[in-house]
Amino acid sequence: MDMTWFQAMEARIPHGQARTRFAPSPTGYMHVGNLRTALYTYLIARHLGGSFLLRIEDTDQERLVEGATDVIYSTLRQCGLTWDEGPDVGGPVGPYVQTERRDLYGRYAELLIERGGAYRCFCTRERLEELHRDDPTAKYDGLCARLTPEEVQEKLDAGVPYVIRQKIPREGTTTFTDATFGDITVPNDTLDDNVLIKSDGLPTYNFANVIDDHLMGITHVVRGSEYLSSAPKYNLLYESFGWKIPTYIHCAPVMRDAQHKMSKRHGDPSYEDLIAEGYLSQAVVNYVALLGWSPGGEREIYSLPELAEAFDLKGISKSPAVFDKQKLTWMNAEYLKAMAPEDFYQAAAPYLKAAVQNPAIDLRKVAALVQPRCEVLTDLAERVDFLDRLPEYDTALYVHKKSKTTLESALSSLQAALPVLEGLTEWSNDALFAALSGLAAELGVKNAIVLWPVRVAVSGKASTPGGATELCALLGKEESLRRIRDGIARLS
Ligand code: GLU
Repeated sequence: MDMTWFQAMEARIPHGQARTRFAPSPTGYMHVGNLRTALYTYLIARHLGGSFLLRIEDTDQERLVEGATDVIYSTLRQCGLTWDEGPDVGGPVGPYVQTERRDLYGRYAELLIERGGAYRCFCTRERLEELHRDDPTAKYDGLCARLTPEEVQEKLDAGVPYVIRQKIPREGTTTFTDATFGDITVPNDTLDDNVLIKSDGLPTYNFANVIDDHLMGITHVVRGSEYLSSAPKYNLLYESFGWKIPTYIHCAPVMRDAQHKMSKRHGDPSYEDLIAEGYLSQAVVNYVALLGWSPGGEREIYSLPELAEAFDLKGISKSPAVFDKQKLTWMNAEYLKAMAPEDFYQAAAPYLKAAVQNPAIDLRKVAALVQPRCEVLTDLAERVDFLDRLPEYDTALYVHKKSKTTLESALSSLQAALPVLEGLTEWSNDALFAALSGLAAELGVKNAIVLWPVRVAVSGKASTPGGATELCALLGKEESLRRIRDGIARLS
């Protein structure tokens, strides 16, 4: 076989630095587990000062989804996982889309046949069905591996369709090493002669990932533990070609609960769902990083560059991680609190605008009020909708045990507060507070006896993003007084 072309392919492979790849199949959404794989892959490359590649694995034509590649691009971009090489940015070992590499897999399969690591299989579908009739998991029986070169040539000349299968040694064992799971040894007679090239000429995942990882110079392979059982076969392929085996890092699954893997089909959220639910990308990234990896110690809040700095393979866990929405929500609230006020306003504005249409309300002030209490952006509407319109409410809200308010005390407080507020010329939080706490002192009661009823009257809610005077300041004089008069009417 003329090796010139193969030598040229080898010559393109960069050496001397870490190279990792995220290799998604375009399914149309990003699983939390997939995002974690992408993130760890990215973090290894950044930690080691190497390159992070994006490769699209689209050889399963039946699973192709329109626009699915865009979901991958936009998710990675929103999460800050920038790739150094990929379909859109190119690179030294492209193309980075498997269907565009189609011809190359066939050539490597031919090379493998010549090296004794693969063979053509001409078995008909009927024969294969027969083999699996009693046992659907039965391995291929190796019939075509025993064809003589003359018999193979005869079939090729006659145009009989074929697939190319991996030739697994019948004897011995194969061991492979995983950074998380350690050494795993399997008897070769448990491994199937898997199809490497299908009859349509396209490679199976099992073949394409090995060829591509080698030709792209990948040093660390991060993927889900569902691929663990196939790893020995990949090693046999590397060995047949005489190639260096990359470091494997298989990650235990992300679970919904102790028994079930997270699954989009069963309603578990994808990355896009979480964003639509009001979670911030940075919080999701931070949370997902800690799902199955621990930096050691108590600290939990890490920016992406901090994760890259801290990331090491030793911290990856062998046990499945349970996705805990409450924990994510807590983390999201931490991120929201830590945002610069203007950034928070920009993130919150679409939600605030949808909930508060009254142009007299200053949404920047609303944002400042809700920022310390907001857990997810989508809960904002429910917190601020009273600003637009006083909701229907029950006067029982005026009775507050801790503040010792009763229906009677609430009524007299509102009646006393009304003229004080009517006479107020400066309508600011400070002026309002001075006036109402002055009134409480005059009446010889605790501030809460006056402030609680005012808060209920202007909001109609038991829980609000601010106290009485902050809410009055937001609503403006006219609207505040109108609501207090309304409260007096309700209590009278
Ligand atoms: N295309 C495979 C997937 O999306 C990638 C597996 C791997 O990273 O090797 O599951």
